[in-house]
Amino acid sequence: MKKHNFYAGPSILPQYTLDKTIEGIKDFAGTGLSILEISHRSKEFVACMNDTISLFKELLEIPSGYQVIFLGGGASLQFAMVPMNLMNKKAAYLNTGEWASKALKEAKLFGEAVEVASSKEKMFNYIPKNYTIPADAEYFHITTNNTIYGTELKKDLDVKIPLVADMSSDIFSRPIDVSKYSLIYGGAQKNLAPAGMAFVIIKEDILGKVTRPIPSMLDYRVHIKGESMFNTPPVFTVFAAQQTLTWLKNLGGIKAIQKKNIEKAKILYDEIDRNKLFVTTINDPEDRSLMNICFVMAPAYKDLEKPFADFARSKGMLGIEGHRLTGGFRASTYNALPKESVEALVSAMKEFESDN
Ligand SMILES: *Cc1c(COP(=O)(O)O)cnc(C)c1O
Repeated sequence: MKKHNFYAGPSILPQYTLDKTIEGIKDFAGTGLSILEISHRSKEFVACMNDTISLFKELLEIPSGYQVIFLGGGASLQFAMVPMNLMNKKAAYLNTGEWASKALKEAKLFGEAVEVASSKEKMFNYIPKNYTIPADAEYFHITTNNTIYGTELKKDLDVKIPLVADMSSDIFSRPIDVSKYSLIYGGAQKNLAPAGMAFVIIKEDILGKVTRPIPSMLDYRVHIKGESMFNTPPVFTVFAAQQTLTWLKNLGGIKAIQKKNIEKAKILYDEIDRNKLFVTTINDPEDRSLMNICFVMAPAYKDLEKPFADFARSKGMLGIEGHRLTGGFRASTYNALPKESVEALVSAMKEFESDN
C-alpha cells in the first residue's frame, strides 16, 4: 500500500533527493567513493558545499552582506549561539510555542531576555499581534512557524532592531525578504535534508559586538572564516540539502512551491472545517500554518480519536498523531509532500465520517 508521510521531522524528502542520495552513497560525483567516506577537503565535496551555499543564496535571494553557514547541533544549539554572539545585555523574544519558549530559556543564561508577548495562556493557538519591543534590546527573536501547535507568522515583520528568526519548519516554503532579518536559522530536517545540521544566514555586520569570550566552535565568525569547514561539517546532510535545493530550483523555485503549499493546506483546512468529526485548533485563518496542520476531534466525537488514528494508519497515513504535548492530530505538509497525500488523508476523513 502507498504510504503517506506526514511526520513533523525528520520528515518527507523529495523522491529526487532520495534517488540522488542513493547514487551518492554508491559513487559520489564520479569519485568512485561513497559520500559517506569522502574527505570534506576533497575538491568534489568543496564544490558540493559551494554549490549548496549558492543555491541557498539564489533561491532565497539573499542580498550581499550576508553569509550562509552549516553547523552541527541542530536548531537547539542556535537557541544558545544566538544570544552568546549577539546579546550583551538585553534581547526581546516573542513566545509563540514550545520552541520559542526553549529559545527564550537559553537566552536568559546570557542576559536580560524579555518576553514581549506570549500566547501560552491559550495553548499557543494564535500569534500575538500587539506588543512593544524594548528599543534598547539588541535583537528581537521570533519563531516563524510553530511546528508543534500549528501557527505561522507568514509576513516579514518591520522592526527597528535586528530581527532574528527560527525558520526550522518553514524555510523555503514561501518567499521571504531576507533584508528584513539580521539572522535566520533552522534545523535541516523539516524542509531540506536529513537530520544532523543547522543552517544559519547571518548579516555579517551584526557580529563582533559582544564583549564575552566565545568558544571557537560557538563563534559564528569562526565558522564564516572557515567556510563551514572549521571542523568536519555534516558532509552527508550538506550533500542531501544540495539535492533538495536542486529539486526546488528545477520545479520553479520558492514562488512555485508556495503555490503548491497554499493549495495543499487549503484542501486540508477546508475538510477540517467541513467535516463534523473534526475541528481546527487555530481559529484565525491568518495564523494557520501551511506546514503543520493541527486538528482535534469535535467535542461530541472525542472517543473517536483512537479509532480515527487506527483507521488513518490502515489507509497508509503515517505520522498524523499530534505532538505528545498537544494530542489530537497534526499533518505536516512540507514542500516535498505531494498533493495526492493530502487528498488521500481527506478521503480517509470523509470515509470515517460517513462510517460514523
Ligand atoms: C524542530 C524544531 C527545532 C529543534 O530542532 P533540532 O534540530 O532538533 O534542535 C527548533 N525550532 C523549530 C521551530 C523546530 O520546528
